[in-house]
Amino acid sequence: MREKSVITKSAYNAVFWIFALIGLILLAGCQRDEEQSAELFVFGTIVEIKLWGASPEEADHAFAELQQMFQGMHRNWHAWEPGRLSDINAAFASGKTATADDEIITMIRQSQMVEEASGGRFNPTIGALIKLWGFHTSDYPIVGPPPSQEQISAVIDLQPSSNDILIDGLKLSTDNPAVQLDFGGIAKGYAVDLTITRLRKMGINNAIVNAGGDLRAIGTHGERPWRVAVRKPGGGSIGSIEVQGDEAIFTSGNYERFRQDQLERYPHILDPVTGWPAQDIASVTVITHEGLLADAAATALIVAGLDAWPQVARALALNQVAIVDENGTVYLTPAMQDRVDFSEGVEHFIVRTDQTR
Ligand code: ADP
Ligand code: MG
Repeated sequence: MREKSVITKSAYNAVFWIFALIGLILLAGCQRDEEQSAELFVFGTIVEIKLWGASPEEADHAFAELQQMFQGMHRNWHAWEPGRLSDINAAFASGKTATADDEIITMIRQSQMVEEASGGRFNPTIGALIKLWGFHTSDYPIVGPPPSQEQISAVIDLQPSSNDILIDGLKLSTDNPAVQLDFGGIAKGYAVDLTITRLRKMGINNAIVNAGGDLRAIGTHGERPWRVAVRKPGGGSIGSIEVQGDEAIFTSGNYERFRQDQLERYPHILDPVTGWPAQDIASVTVITHEGLLADAAATALIVAGLDAWPQVARALALNQVAIVDENGTVYLTPAMQDRVDFSEGVEHFIVRTDQTR
């Protein structure tokens, strides 16, 4: 009897240790596969970063490095706080030469292309106009009447353009005193791109970087793709999308940031030609391979408006675009239609961008 009980006890011990070991292996495996996430800040926006398959140590290291990178972007790219960009703008205003860095040069060069292709609808040199409208703030809504037509004309008559900027190495100059850089329409997109580049350098190939619905994803979420909601004006979503590999999805809207004057609303995206806000599209969602292009393109399409957006989408070589008008009706390209899993009750129509409407 005694002997039997000893054997039973040691068998029990063995079983215990085998299970404990399996448990430890599973736990270690789980920790690797688990999703790691963090919320960081850049330009007053929360950026949610999710990693799949990274260890907690790798994730901590990545998040710390990215937070530092974001601080640098804030210092160098901010449109109205003192920093590198405000130094450049001060130099432009007084006809002096300014010094940029590689990232600012990239944003100017890419902007020159998007400005050209969009027929001037995207224009990152209308900083003076944006300031005049009071949109150099994080406190929305702004209340009060719009600027006068005289004030608006004083800026737009000089036709500031990114093509007025001469680039010589890291030196910038312009002979147009109305040129004032404001990267509000692309900075988030480029920040997301640089985040993805940095993650890849660290060996992280499954991630999603989401700045309030504007995002880029790489790889997968384990066995399944990353799935994201497409924002709808006024809240909620028009549907969801499965992100395929490396893609950026950006939405620009006229419903969150605006000036309110009694019953009149003046949204923060301005038509660089008229100097007045673009009104008739409530939101634009673009899917393409890079954040910078998606962000700039979404801004350009808002300016293009309900009549011209298909033509501008074609000029920008975009085939996945969704537009929401003021009534909540969705217009989308055939390639976009294939991607969206619509929420219930969302009315939508297909628009071909290869035909002029
Ligand atoms: P959001 O993500 O807030 O919808 P966008 O990406 O469209 O915004 O960027 C809007 C910002 O871009 C504005 O706050 C302003 O700084 C800048 N901006 C406004 N109009 C234009 C324009 N026509 N071209 C380029 N940038 C613009
Ligand atoms: Mg944009």
